[in-house]
Amino acid sequence: MYKINVLWGVVLLAAALLFSACESAAELDEEDKMEVPEYVMVVHGGAGVFALHDLPEGRKEEYFNAIEEALDIGEEILANGGSGLDAVVEVISYLEDNPIFNAGKGAVFTNEGVNELDASIMSGKDMDAGAVGGITTVKNPIVAARKVMEKSPHVLLTGRGANQFAASVGCEIVDNSYFFTEERYNSMLRARESEAERMMEDTMGTVGVAVLDASGNLYAGTSTGGMTNKRFGRIGDSPIIGAGTYADNNGVAVSCTGHGEYFIRYAVAHDLNALVKYRGISLDSAATYIIHEKLVEAGGSGGLIAVDRHGNYSMPFNTNGMIRGVVKPGFREVAIYD
Ligand code: ASP
Repeated sequence: MYKINVLWGVVLLAAALLFSACESAAELDEEDKMEVPEYVMVVHGGAGVFALHDLPEGRKEEYFNAIEEALDIGEEILANGGSGLDAVVEVISYLEDNPIFNAGKGAVFTNEGVNELDASIMSGKDMDAGAVGGITTVKNPIVAARKVMEKSPHVLLTGRGANQFAASVGCEIVDNSYFFTEERYNSMLRARESEAERMMEDTMGTVGVAVLDASGNLYAGTSTGGMTNKRFGRIGDSPIIGAGTYADNNGVAVSCTGHGEYFIRYAVAHDLNALVKYRGISLDSAATYIIHEKLVEAGGSGGLIAVDRHGNYSMPFNTNGMIRGVVKPGFREVAIYD
């Protein structure tokens, strides 16, 4: 009889502990949900060594206006419960069409005087991804990247095969001359002359977006013309999943910009996701560590924008400036320098 009573006591105690553990876990979950904003979108328009006085007349205002417009486009979709994937594609397409950015129209030139474009997109909901590298005839490379993700069994298509695939799935096709701007062409001519000039010119204007949408899904995308005077055929980090772009609902959505070779070798986008996902390090500490310590030690310049599933965001850069913006319900901010 005594044994039965003790047994019952133990069972009841275990049940009570289990109940209170479930209750506090539920409370924590509830707390998490309450703090998560309905949506968060971060955008970048490239990191670079440009000082304010190096920018062409009126360019700073143009950057601000373009990022404001990009935030409007994304917010319109996200505030109406739209998919973060649509927000990434719409916002990046808008920036690609704007010639002040190094993506789509206005992209930088290769050493052969051609525009070769790279882009990628990733869905953290299902770890699906699509990318294009070295494409020359697709008006909006981010649309082609999405098509690779949704309409092909592959992740990355390059060059002729990517151009051809994009045409076959209905992407808008243009002549390579569509991407021409005199400013970028002259920049390439100057870069051919001097190595120092090349370093000044190379990392500006790539575009990227990272989003947490109302369904709790994370998405990221990046689009670029690469680096001025790059050797033709060179592909940077932007279309490399895990280097320039990454999204994982259990980690972060991130888009990088900067000297691509470093971002590839150090797998920057995936590294950030791994620190947050596997080590539980806060997004901002992990992003700051990667950009300001790891990348600096390696000699790489650039920055990133990222958002996690709790709606935290981070936008560190180790260059003079990074064109960037963030929007969430009731809050928005656009900046270039510190
Ligand atoms: N990361 C890009 C590349 O290396 C350039 C940039 O972000 O400015 O192609």
